[in-house]
Amino acid sequence: MLEDTFGRRFHYLRLSITDVCNFRCSYCLPDGYQCDSDRDFLSLSEIKTIAQAFAELGTSKIRLTGGEPSLRKDLPDIIATCAQTPGIDNVVITTNGYRFPDVIDEWQDAGIGGINVSIDSLDPNVFNAITGADKLKAILAGVEKAASLGIPVKINSVLMKGVNEQSLKQFQAWLKDTSVTLRFIELMETGLSHQFFKQHHVPGEPLKQQLLQEGWTRIVRGKSAGPAQEFQHPDYAGRIGLIMPYSKDFCDSCNRLRISATGKLHLCLFAEQGLSLREEIASGDQLALQHKISTMLNDKEVSHWLQDGFTGATKNLAMLGG
Ligand code: SAM
Ligand code: SF4
Repeated sequence: MLEDTFGRRFHYLRLSITDVCNFRCSYCLPDGYQCDSDRDFLSLSEIKTIAQAFAELGTSKIRLTGGEPSLRKDLPDIIATCAQTPGIDNVVITTNGYRFPDVIDEWQDAGIGGINVSIDSLDPNVFNAITGADKLKAILAGVEKAASLGIPVKINSVLMKGVNEQSLKQFQAWLKDTSVTLRFIELMETGLSHQFFKQHHVPGEPLKQQLLQEGWTRIVRGKSAGPAQEFQHPDYAGRIGLIMPYSKDFCDSCNRLRISATGKLHLCLFAEQGLSLREEIASGDQLALQHKISTMLNDKEVSHWLQDGFTGATKNLAMLGG
């Protein structure tokens, strides 16, 4: 099992398969995708090599992300390749859901084990204003379909001051009868969003206190569950999760490593730089690849230092997948 110098164990890989996105979320790509990389994204066979290497190092879960991962035409093959890798028992995806609901059967056939969908508001006008995409209805139909097929669905939502704070009540009403987990992600500052962050950041802790006062109770999760805190309420079918990267000790439960769409290992979402593994990945040399990953892990730092205004190499989260 991969373990760093602080005793944290890494059984979870977030694998970006493209940095291209077709939405222009105001907190991520406000001007839309700018093609400033060479777009030499990992091929299917390189993805297979990565999945095998991480599985042999103890990884059991892979999350496919982007940019928008469903822009890759070979996505079903990528899901199947990861799901069929011995040792990998869960392949999940984070998506903006723009191809919903049509693709869900195909993803399920390929072996998807869970879908995280980003929905920042249930009000179509607010949703359009944030994402630049008139897609809320189809996305919600997709959420319903996935849930009816028994695929675990989580909704990711970034609450922003003056943008969608009013969506909280609407989300809570929705959760009364909708059996999904809604996870509020605290807005994070990235290299290109200093001003936006200053204007719109909503701290997670007061929201947590509000939920506790309203009778939500914290669910005890396993030690390896990662940094999200989850809450349930007897009157609600759905659950609420809070991801509060600015909270004290957030990084203590870090259980994930990241690979960019061009084959760089990122020890943290906000690491200073990605460390290239492309040569070893392209050559398919498993021993060399695994050795390099294990050695690089020794440099993982104890914290992301976000609380000190540090954003590392991360200009926006589409670069690496959130
Ligand atoms: N395009 C896909 C999507 O939107 O779900 C996957 C990639 S996106 C970068 C992954 C997650 O990161 C999304 O849930 C998005 O809301 C979140 N995200 C992006 N920028 C963020 C920021 N600055 N702070 C907090 N969350 C952010
Ligand atoms: Fe695209 Fe996801 Fe970023 Fe929105 S949050 S712009 S959907 S990568």
